[in-house]
Amino acid sequence: MTKPVILTGDRTTGPLHIGHFAGSLRNRLRFQDSHEQFLLLADTQALTDNAHDPDKVRRSVIEVALDYLAIGIDPAKTTICLQSGLPALAELSMLYLNFVTVSRLERNPTIKDEIRARGFGRDIPAGFLCYPAAQAGDITAFKATVVPVGEDQTALIEQTNEIVRRINATAGKTILPEAQAVIPQFGRLPGVDGKAKMSKSSGNAIALSASPEAISAAVKAMFTDPTHLRIEDPGQVEGNVVFACLDAFDEDPATLEEMKAQYQRGGLGDGRIKRRLDDILQALIGPIRTRRAELAEDHAYVLDVIRSGTEKARSRTEVTKREVVEGLGLFVL
Ligand code: ATP
Ligand code: MG
Repeated sequence: MTKPVILTGDRTTGPLHIGHFAGSLRNRLRFQDSHEQFLLLADTQALTDNAHDPDKVRRSVIEVALDYLAIGIDPAKTTICLQSGLPALAELSMLYLNFVTVSRLERNPTIKDEIRARGFGRDIPAGFLCYPAAQAGDITAFKATVVPVGEDQTALIEQTNEIVRRINATAGKTILPEAQAVIPQFGRLPGVDGKAKMSKSSGNAIALSASPEAISAAVKAMFTDPTHLRIEDPGQVEGNVVFACLDAFDEDPATLEEMKAQYQRGGLGDGRIKRRLDDILQALIGPIRTRRAELAEDHAYVLDVIRSGTEKARSRTEVTKREVVEGLGLFVL
């Protein structure tokens, strides 16, 4: 029986962090066996809001690949591939741009939010505005039917499926499957500064490659409840980043619930919850960091993983592109 195809990936804008681990990476470890999984090192997408720093985007390709391998992504099961090495993705997006209007792109709620968050104003890079069509290119090129996305990203999958329906209708047959958004159980990890989202670009993340000292420093400075001044004061669990991280990584939920109750009643200090989190994160990140350092020594191996994954993905995506070009009735040489 053929396994369902899953496409996920990350923008190559910096090393991955514990938010990625909680929200996506650990699910990908499971999907390796149940699905045919493609992981896209999304460098061209990273460029849509990092055109001023292509060097960072290039360097981060290796960083992200190292993170994948260090957490246990197995290149024999999962195909790790580089977006800019797959021309079919770009060609499909160019075709799709004729099946979507500018006003539809502007109305996309995910895009609207991100334009606001990035402060583009009227100066929106065209590549950024068009990235839903680029994402449709990515997803359909692999004929992925399963696409894990954050809750705020479902509008992008809807846009992909609109394009899929138009292409199929024009072709008069089903060339492309519709994709289904899968929303991970664990939502979004807040930043260490208390901001709603930990993100590479906001400088509020704990990297999966962080040193023991960096982990401790980040936990020590972590946002808790500013009104919880003395140990005996009642404290807030909601909006408290230490508890958000414990929710994500503490494997003893019964003790965690007791700690939350005690914190809310009063009598549990920030020092104690932070020590617990520090221990948990050191235990999580320690082996990843060690493995990552070993892999970083073997640059040729990492390059080979990316190169061979990209070659495999290239033949797959070229077939889809040809089917779409033919299906649309264009001239095929
Ligand atoms: P950037 O700041 O460059 O946008 P990022 O940290 O937001 O980087 P992305 O590469 O944009 O990371 O995110 C890839 C995927 O990782 C997201 O779709 C989401 O599933 C997951 N992810 C990212 N940040 C978090 C987070 N804080 N909590 C849970 N999941 C996250
Ligand atoms: Mg992001």
